[in-house]
Amino acid sequence: MNMHVNDMASGKQANWAKTGTQPSIAIVGAGMSGIAAVVKLREAGYTDITVYEKTDKVGGTWRENQYPGLSCDVPSRWYSFSFALNPDWTHRFSYGPEIQAYMEKTAKDFGVLEVIKFNTPVTDLTYEGPQWCLTTGDGDVQHYDIVLSATGILHQPVIPNIEGLDTFEGAKFHTARWDHTVPLEGRKVGIIGTGSTSAQIVGAITKKVGTMNVFQRTPHWMIPLPQTEYSAFWKGVMRTVPALQKIIYNFYFKTMVKNFGAATTGDQKKLQDIQDVCIKHLEDEVADPVLRAKLTPDYQAACKRLIFCSDYYPAITSDNANLITEGITRIVPTGIETDDGKVHELDVLVLATGFDAAAFILPTKVTGENGRDLGEAWDGSPRAHRAVAIPGFPNFWMVEGPTGPVGNLSLISISEHQIDYIISMLNKMRDEKLDAIAPKQVSFEAYNNEMSERVPETVWASGGCDSWYFDKSGTPNLYPFPPDQYLNDMHDPHFSEYRLISDISDEDQMESVA
Ligand code: NAP
Repeated sequence: MNMHVNDMASGKQANWAKTGTQPSIAIVGAGMSGIAAVVKLREAGYTDITVYEKTDKVGGTWRENQYPGLSCDVPSRWYSFSFALNPDWTHRFSYGPEIQAYMEKTAKDFGVLEVIKFNTPVTDLTYEGPQWCLTTGDGDVQHYDIVLSATGILHQPVIPNIEGLDTFEGAKFHTARWDHTVPLEGRKVGIIGTGSTSAQIVGAITKKVGTMNVFQRTPHWMIPLPQTEYSAFWKGVMRTVPALQKIIYNFYFKTMVKNFGAATTGDQKKLQDIQDVCIKHLEDEVADPVLRAKLTPDYQAACKRLIFCSDYYPAITSDNANLITEGITRIVPTGIETDDGKVHELDVLVLATGFDAAAFILPTKVTGENGRDLGEAWDGSPRAHRAVAIPGFPNFWMVEGPTGPVGNLSLISISEHQIDYIISMLNKMRDEKLDAIAPKQVSFEAYNNEMSERVPETVWASGGCDSWYFDKSGTPNLYPFPPDQYLNDMHDPHFSEYRLISDISDEDQMESVA
């Protein structure tokens, strides 16, 4: 970590920007955002970096999720680091282990591993202006000039509050805690939930299990996944002509943002096109009208995160699969009892019940200016300025923070834009010798109010569904304008939205909060 020059006159440590030294930067999390942050910060000249990772590996969601069938329904040539395009992707939509290997390789190739403290969860972050005091699980305390939260969004599994869950005598686990020691072959498997995760699992394991019981509370719309395996020839072409990889990256980027992004944020024609494809998919794959009716949502496609999957309908229509739509009354030692009084006997119970999407960096305790607690400030409805910064939390930046564009886009691509924005802030601090920088409360409120006014026009709010996008405020926690607007804005930071604090000891700086 960077040593700070002591200001003998005042007794306080002189700030990095004033002394022309490197800022010490702590990054929390070594998933894809953490890896990208290290590489891009170094490219920009910031080299005093320490990454804190709670586990023993990089990869984040790709390390954590190891369920059968795990894949990414965003095309790999776009779901890639822009600085590490990969000619060797084996499929258009890569499987989980291959993405995890890519994360590990990128971290190794770019020298990221050497700055990571593994098995070191961050428990507390306290602002001691202008630095942050960081405490780890083993009680170690360090001070940093800058903190980046790169903890990802969906990492706290939701265990459903269903009566009798603890009484189940078979094997039971959440999808993000898959127990590979539990055999599936020939066994009676039950899965609660029908989101993206469940669809991939059901598609992957139904053939080998004895009975597959899917407990559906709400049907989800599904669009076919145009999967394809890349030939050795095609990989060779990619390797020989690297520019082609960039062209394809940009093609997917533009196509998804312009079409899917527009459809979800107000373009009714594009939205209808998506729904038509989903309906055709269902009609083509599910002949039985009763089953088809059960699988047909009563809300607009893309209201919940749209599922791209071609394996689910063939699996759910197979002889050993049951789609159970009666509500779950309770879980009993031998299986699940539904509202019709039937007990569905199970050997294995899989909870595909999703994640707490309002957590972000929590449960790490983050305390900002004047003792402001982040968890209390958010109170179940996390908000940020431009998804990266929070008033009252200077020099603290979030990658993939609240209200960013999320659903069905390449989060790697979005993270990289956010990291570029954060680097602009650091450059501003360096160039103007600032002690600290934080969004103004008024700018934060204006930005979030503008988003709240726009939210009703999005399919997430108007499409007639409930989803993990909604937080305690009762509105979807997503960027409600077309995502290209967000990405463009991130290239052009408006510093007038920020408190530019040149001297932390200057009491007048609080006036600029408003
Ligand atoms: P999810 O979309 O939140 O789905 C959770 C499912 O569990 C829903 O069907 C929900 O029903 C059901 N559920 C929750 N509590 C229940 C209860 N008490 N009783 C009965 N059913 C209950 O979670 P997920 O499938 O893990 O996916 C989360 C997100 O991860 C995705 O939306 C996506 O962003 C990401 N993901 C991405 C990929 C990819 O390929 N890129 C793959 C997997 C996941 P309701 O619908 O009725 O609420």
